[in-house]
Amino acid sequence: MATLVTPTVILPRAPKGAFRNEPFTDFSRHENAHAMREALERVGDRLGHEYPLIIGGERVCTAGKIESRNPARPAQLVGLHQKAGVEHADQAVQAALNAFETWRFVGADERASLLLHAAEIIRERKFDFCAWLTYEVGKNWAEADADVGETIDFLEFYAREALRLAAATPPIQYPGEHDELLYIPLGVGAVISPWNFPFAIMAGMTSAAIVSGNTVVLKPSSDSPTIAARFMEVLEEAGLPPGVVNFCPGSGASFGNAVVAHAKTRFIAFTGSKEVGLDIHERAAKTQLGQIWIKRTILEMGGKDSIVVSADADFDAAVAGVVASAFGFSGQKCSACSRAIVEDAIYEAFVERLREQVEKLTVGDPATNSNIGPVVNEAAMKSILYYIDIGKKEGRLVAGGKAVETPDKGYYVAPTVIVDVAPSARIAQEEIFGPVLAVIRARDFDHAVEIANNTEFGLTGSVYSTDRVKLDHARRRFHVGNLYFNRKCTGAMVGAHPFGGFNMSGTDSKAGGPDYLYLFTQAKSVGEKL
Ligand code: NAD
Repeated sequence: MATLVTPTVILPRAPKGAFRNEPFTDFSRHENAHAMREALERVGDRLGHEYPLIIGGERVCTAGKIESRNPARPAQLVGLHQKAGVEHADQAVQAALNAFETWRFVGADERASLLLHAAEIIRERKFDFCAWLTYEVGKNWAEADADVGETIDFLEFYAREALRLAAATPPIQYPGEHDELLYIPLGVGAVISPWNFPFAIMAGMTSAAIVSGNTVVLKPSSDSPTIAARFMEVLEEAGLPPGVVNFCPGSGASFGNAVVAHAKTRFIAFTGSKEVGLDIHERAAKTQLGQIWIKRTILEMGGKDSIVVSADADFDAAVAGVVASAFGFSGQKCSACSRAIVEDAIYEAFVERLREQVEKLTVGDPATNSNIGPVVNEAAMKSILYYIDIGKKEGRLVAGGKAVETPDKGYYVAPTVIVDVAPSARIAQEEIFGPVLAVIRARDFDHAVEIANNTEFGLTGSVYSTDRVKLDHARRRFHVGNLYFNRKCTGAMVGAHPFGGFNMSGTDSKAGGPDYLYLFTQAKSVGEKL
């Protein structure tokens, strides 16, 4: 099945004004809810299609397949995908290498136009993309909308950033010379993305790489290849030349490793678990025969994020913030609150109100816009239930604590709260990546911040307090890449909250921030004697 796509032309587009975040869709409005239901029907009719690998613009079929299934009803096939193996790694890297020779010299304005056009296409079909996310990974409407909105934001933001870098302020001029500092691309990058923000993170890393002049081998998660295939279609529609992005779903252990290890791979942009991130870090560090550079790794990994609730906090806001951060998308966010650390003076009252609020959450098919949808697959459900069993021994279960059975046999876990957990307990230290919240009692505020810092991670955190002195203490001491005050610890906004974690949460790449594109470039100094 190897057909070639005719390259389309990238039509010139300029940013429309300064960057602004894509507004959230208000689904309480009848017309938006109606549009979402229609999109679910429309996309529902397109489930189960087969998608090829795309290498150098050619459609490639493989013997092995990846089945992407709806976690809310696993009998439903969302997309059938090819499975790139070790043998495709060299092909994909070579195709990217060939394309790099042209793409690296394409002007920043043209590369930015590609992203701006892609953003336009996605904005026009926003509800359809939301529906794909609902079917493929179980996002409810608002979660899907946030993922699609963030995708548009990344495209719009990085387009502007590429133009800014291309027009970078000249360095200090040495007398008698004309001096320049040019941000040039690195080469071929492996983009390896997770399933939990399967659109935004996948598209964000890919678009940052290509707008900087690199070419990419894109390996999406096997749990979410369909939304990535849909993104490839958007890029091609917007004029992506063949080989600039090579779409290769495949197993991490075989294809992923082979691309990471390839001598011609110049950099790896990865978002996923700590274990895989560290493995990539090690493999990328080993120099291969014929390799003439040190590979750059951009690694964003897991979290064990805390919300500190001070005795003087706005109580209702704190409870609402903890519930939203812990249970949004069933706790499957790297930024999810998995530890609420509460000052002793309000601990009992907080636990009681939290229990009441959690019990109100509805669990069910996200297509019907329930609060809590399924977790991504059966293995995730088993792992979460395993941690709940541990948690029942490490603390006192006050809500949830079990799987929820549905006629469609979806992978549901009830939102779970375990209180009186010791700061060093396993459920207070290890990333569970599901709807499980540990509540920890702190003697006072300083103790709470001390507990918040006691994991190997350092991704997000939040503090609820009305006391300026306490907030200032947290600003200095709470060691996380993304710290928030009096708001939830999820929902980073592109531009406003550049995202990336400390310690074992990653290389602090600050996606969606002013430093991000530098990671995808190298600076070349040119000095000319006048
Ligand atoms: P994962 O590590 O299992 O997989 C991520 C990607 O790596 C997938 O595409 C997978 O196929 C690939 N992969 C697996 N083994 C590989 C190998 N040996 N070599 C190369 N690639 C390999 O993570 P996941 O389950 O998809 O995502 C959830 C994890 O991602 C959580 O730990 C979460 O905290 C983290 N995450 C972090 C951020 C962040 O910005 N820090 C954002 C989202 C998710």
